[in-house]
Amino acid sequence: MNKDFRDPELAGGLVKAIRRDINDLGRPVRLMEVCGTHTVAISRSGIRNLLDGVVELRSGPGCPVCVTSQEDIDHMISLAYLPNTTVLTYGDMLRVPGATGTLEEARAAGGDVRVLYSALDGVRAAGAEPSRQFVFLAVGFETTAPGTALAVKEAARRGLDNFTLHPAHKTIPAALRALLAPARSQASTGSGGPPAIEGFILPGHVSAVIGRKAYDFLAADFGLPGVITGFEPVDILLAVRELVRSVMARAGGKRVVNLYPRVVREDGNARAQALTREVLEPCPSAWRGLGTIPDSGLTLREEWRAFNAVKRFAGAGGLQSSLHPALGGSRSRAAGISACRCGDVLRGLIAAPECPLFGRGCTPISPVGPCMVSSEGSCAAHYAHERRRHAR
Ligand code: SF4
Repeated sequence: MNKDFRDPELAGGLVKAIRRDINDLGRPVRLMEVCGTHTVAISRSGIRNLLDGVVELRSGPGCPVCVTSQEDIDHMISLAYLPNTTVLTYGDMLRVPGATGTLEEARAAGGDVRVLYSALDGVRAAGAEPSRQFVFLAVGFETTAPGTALAVKEAARRGLDNFTLHPAHKTIPAALRALLAPARSQASTGSGGPPAIEGFILPGHVSAVIGRKAYDFLAADFGLPGVITGFEPVDILLAVRELVRSVMARAGGKRVVNLYPRVVREDGNARAQALTREVLEPCPSAWRGLGTIPDSGLTLREEWRAFNAVKRFAGAGGLQSSLHPALGGSRSRAAGISACRCGDVLRGLIAAPECPLFGRGCTPISPVGPCMVSSEGSCAAHYAHERRRHAR
């Protein structure tokens, strides 16, 4: 890593330049980052504090753990209780609450839930125990989807009939469109609503796969600027300065800029895209807090349907959480979840500390919603790095 991207003098100069621009503009600007790694970097580096009063940074649906729906979690919990069946998950999904509990609780109650580090680990586990069914909770954005596709192909190559996945991958551009559509209709009808997001800090990792051009619709269809950037403080401040300048420009000046050329190309990673396309195809997907968004998920293509756990276990007692007596959750959990405002946080309608449960009923030790479970969730990032600031 080039240490210039952490240079305090460079960062200080950028903060001054942004403040000067905002002074010329005559009002503060609200931007959104759409990546959990950016969320943590902004909180940890103190950038929010440095830009206090001039640029407000809201978090969007960029944390894959946070946007996974309750239904997906509940389905996996129900599978964990099936005889001779193992649920495989990334570790950060263990404590994400469904309507009826968490996978960690299911494991404590006797369900077979194991943590893996890659989708291929799941194929290896299935190969080692051929008489047992292994179901992988396939989550994440365009970055993890190629790994899932590779695992399915490897399972097919090895002739495994005991490896399936619950497809819950999501795609970022579709979520951004869904997020912006209501704002556009409010603007066209002149109806009120929360202050609009005026530009996006776009994710570095996802963009490495899908490429810069994948976001051109932001400017073309919504008249909004976007900047792809890296994760160091200078990366993020350069993106903020670019976005503020875009906001100041006339309408035609809005565009999507790549400030992360050391990783991201115009068209992205063609091999990763081809691998994903070979195995997975777009489908409607339920996002926590955003509802079901058309074409925003990835599911197995028809030719790979044998690896789809939703189809394999339909009617076998799986995917019906109400069937198992250990499930059902408690009243206090249900009350906590209904008070949780993760949906509003993920849409940028509120900042994490505006949730009444933040730091009171909800902490990383005892999380109520997924945004406090994942270290990349907005609530957890605010709590870990900025709660003294909020306590002032
Ligand atoms: S602080 Fe907790 S309850 Fe509130 S929105 Fe965040 S995760 Fe949900």
